[in-house]
Amino acid sequence: MPVLEVNDLDAYYGELQALFKVSLEVGAGRIVSVLGANGAGKSTLLKSICGLLESRAGKIFFGGKRIDGLLPHDIVDLGLSLVPEGRKIFSSLTVRENLMIGSYTPKARKERLETLERILQFFPSLRSRISQKGTDLSGGEQQMLAIGRALMSRPRFIIFDEISLGLSPLVIKELYKAVKKINKEGMTVVLVEQDVKRSLKVADFAYILQEGKVTLKGNPRLLTEETVRRAYFGI
Ligand code: ATP
Repeated sequence: MPVLEVNDLDAYYGELQALFKVSLEVGAGRIVSVLGANGAGKSTLLKSICGLLESRAGKIFFGGKRIDGLLPHDIVDLGLSLVPEGRKIFSSLTVRENLMIGSYTPKARKERLETLERILQFFPSLRSRISQKGTDLSGGEQQMLAIGRALMSRPRFIIFDEISLGLSPLVIKELYKAVKKINKEGMTVVLVEQDVKRSLKVADFAYILQEGKVTLKGNPRLLTEETVRRAYFGI
């Protein structure tokens, strides 16, 4: 049974329909890639899954429980966490405070110091900057901080929205290593990306969105570059 299941989801902004009957399944322990050009509907799909946007039709299940209609913090409490696009680091808070804010659910709060220690072991460069303002860090370190903050809620499922946006190839390589390690530790991963090549390299399964519809899905190793390009650009 999939951990996450989206069935025939329609989403709107006012009268504008942004998603049309989108369906998606993510099995436990997998890395699934969601790809699409600007405006394809990736963020809308994420917002719907995380409870930030109400869907008008369709159903979303997480761990067998229906979650469309639930509030975002209740969805986090079930074990689903998001690393948002653009990192969204709180500029007035230190690295430590930015991390701590990720553990506000009652379950996570109980184990927050132990989780913090694990995250600082995972990203040692955050330890040496722990008292600095979060936004004083480099772009790559801020992305690590955003990942660390998402891990503070002790998720079993983590969604990365545009993890590589605006970062150098070397930093992106490091971040992808961290993603694979997180997955190896037992977490299910969804990568929402515009960086097609890198994302398909690590994914077990991929979905391509175009104009709010799934235009292609499959095992990345069985998809040709040409079919991906057609689905991505709609040509
Ligand atoms: P990007 O990579 O640029 O973030 P995306 O694939 O995430 O693109 P969405 O942001 O989900 O795409 O946008 C899907 C459609 O919904 C687009 O046509 C976009 O213009 C529209 N849209 C997105 N957010 C809003 C909003 N807040 N109000 C109105 N329309 C929106």
